[in-house]
Amino acid sequence: MNRTNLDTNMKKLKKNAFRQSKVRGETASRVRCPGGEIDVESLQRVVDIAKKYGKGMVNLTNRQGFEIPGIDLADVEEVNKALQLIIENRGVNQEEYEGGYPASGTRNVVACPGKSLCPFGCYDTKKFAQKIDKLIFPNDHHVKIAFTGCSNDCAHVRLNDFGIMGQTEPQYDKDRCIGCEQCVKYCKKRSVGALKVVNGKIERDTNKCIGCGVCINYCPTRAWTRSKEEYFRVVLLGRTGKKNPRLAEDFMKWADEDTVTKIIVNVYDYLDKYLDREAVESKEHIGYIVDRTGFEEFLNYIMRDVHPNPKCEIQGRLYWGGKRYDQTNELKQSMFRFSEREQ
Ligand code: SF4
Ligand code: SF4
Ligand code: SF4
Repeated sequence: MNRTNLDTNMKKLKKNAFRQSKVRGETASRVRCPGGEIDVESLQRVVDIAKKYGKGMVNLTNRQGFEIPGIDLADVEEVNKALQLIIENRGVNQEEYEGGYPASGTRNVVACPGKSLCPFGCYDTKKFAQKIDKLIFPNDHHVKIAFTGCSNDCAHVRLNDFGIMGQTEPQYDKDRCIGCEQCVKYCKKRSVGALKVVNGKIERDTNKCIGCGVCINYCPTRAWTRSKEEYFRVVLLGRTGKKNPRLAEDFMKWADEDTVTKIIVNVYDYLDKYLDREAVESKEHIGYIVDRTGFEEFLNYIMRDVHPNPKCEIQGRLYWGGKRYDQTNELKQSMFRFSEREQ
C-alpha cells in the first residue's frame, strides 16, 4: 500500500478519536463500546474496517474498546464513513454525518458484566454505563468512569475519576432461616464479617455491612434476599499516570441512581470553569484540578442541585495518597541491587 505523506493535523485526528501511531503515515481508529458491549452488526463492521483499511488485526483496549491499527492517514475520511453504523447503533450525538467520532476526551465508560451475567451483580452495570455514556459523550474533557456490579470491583473502578460499585441491602426472613450459618461463614471469609448468630438467628451489623450480597448468594433457603432498591458506592478521583497514580477514595455510599447520575453530569461544569487550557493538550487530569481548587470547590460543583436519597452517606473530607515517583522516600532508600547484596 502506498503511504501518503499528508500534512495531517494530528490534533484534529486525535479529537476525532484516532490514535497517533509511531508508524509514519499511519493511524489507529478507536471504537467505543460503552459498558463493554457491542452489537454483532457493529462488531462485523469493526472486522470489515480492519480488513479493508487496517492490517487485518484489532486490538482490545484496557477500557473495553477496540483499536484498529495500520490505517493509512489518507483513508481517515473513508474510515469515518464506515464507522457511521457503529456510532449510530450506540446513539452518539453527531454534528457531522459520517464524520466519525466527534470527540475522544471522555473515555469509553467501562463496566463489569453486572447482574445480567454475574450472580454477584447488584444492578445492570452495562445499562447504567450506557445511560451515562449517552449523557456525557461526546465531550472533549478527559474523564474516566467505570461501573462494577459489586464491591469485588472486577472493573477496577478505583483507577477512575468516578468509580461506581453496586450495593444491596440484604433482607432477612427469619422464618426461612434454618440456622446453617453459611451466610456468617461466607461474610467472614469473603467479605467483612458483619453477621453473627444470636439465639439461633442471624444479626447483621448495619454499620459494618458493605452491601456486597455474598450472604444472599450463599444462603440455601433464600432467607437472605436483595433489597428491591439498588444502591451505589461512589469512589472518586483515582488515576494512573507517571506523576502521582492513586486509588480512588470512598465519597458516597448507599446512593441511589439519580444521585450518582447527577454528580457525574455536574463534573463537566466544574471542568469547563477550571480546566487549565494551557496544560499539555488541555488534558489536565481532574484530580490535579481538584488539588488546585481545593476539594470544597469541587464538591460545590458536583453537588449542585443534587438531593441525595435519605439513606445516602457522604464523606466530607477526602485524602488521597498514592505513589509519587519523584520522591525520595524511605522505601526508595532501602532499595538495593540484588547482585550487590551483602552475603
Ligand atoms: S464486580 Fe461483582 S458483579 Fe462485577 S463481575 Fe465482579 S463479582 Fe461479578
Ligand atoms: S451484604 Fe456482604 S457485608 Fe453485608 S452481611 Fe451480606 S455478606 Fe456481609
Ligand atoms: S445461610 Fe440462610 S439459612 Fe443459613 S443461617 Fe444464613 S440466613 Fe439462615
